[in-house]
Amino acid sequence: MNPTVKKTRALFLDRDGVINVDKGYVYQFEQFDFVDGIFELLLRFQKAGYLPVVVTNQSGIARGMYEVSDFKHLMNKVQEVFTSKGIVDVPVYFCPHHPDQGDGKFTVECQCRKPKAGMFYDAVAELNIDVENSIMIGDSWRDIVAAQTASVSKHYFLRGKPIPQNADMTNVDIVEGLNEIQP
Ligand SMILES: [Mg+2]
Ligand SMILES: [Zn+2]
Repeated sequence: MNPTVKKTRALFLDRDGVINVDKGYVYQFEQFDFVDGIFELLLRFQKAGYLPVVVTNQSGIARGMYEVSDFKHLMNKVQEVFTSKGIVDVPVYFCPHHPDQGDGKFTVECQCRKPKAGMFYDAVAELNIDVENSIMIGDSWRDIVAAQTASVSKHYFLRGKPIPQNADMTNVDIVEGLNEIQP
């Protein structure tokens, strides 16, 4: 790689529970309630030179609850809102798979469903990300594990779901809200 091309620091974000309120298998814009402070968070990190990148498990697709096209349509609408707030185009990586739920082509053991790190590896390669100076925000411990596996250096866990007993808490801050997270 050309060493003069500066790598981008990423702000990796889970979607459900971080960007929108997690109501379970949200696929319509009408169900998409933005989490308090999300726009300010994205603008704060954008100003500090980070690229926001969404990494989201969407097993609702494997389960047959909605289609890839529904997901993409929804995320286009979400981006329209982001754009109206002055937020750059946010790349979205999603895993449509599940290892055993559903009966279609997405019911497979994949390398992208968190806690696996496949979506991060793809983003790092495609977006030229400086992963060791990047940040993860998640509300499920598997978000943190996936980011740790991909060598993301700093992690914020939005409190709610359980933390496993043997969890590696290195460089993990537990926060109650997005307003606590600063570049
Ligand atoms: Mg989540
Ligand atoms: Zn997958």
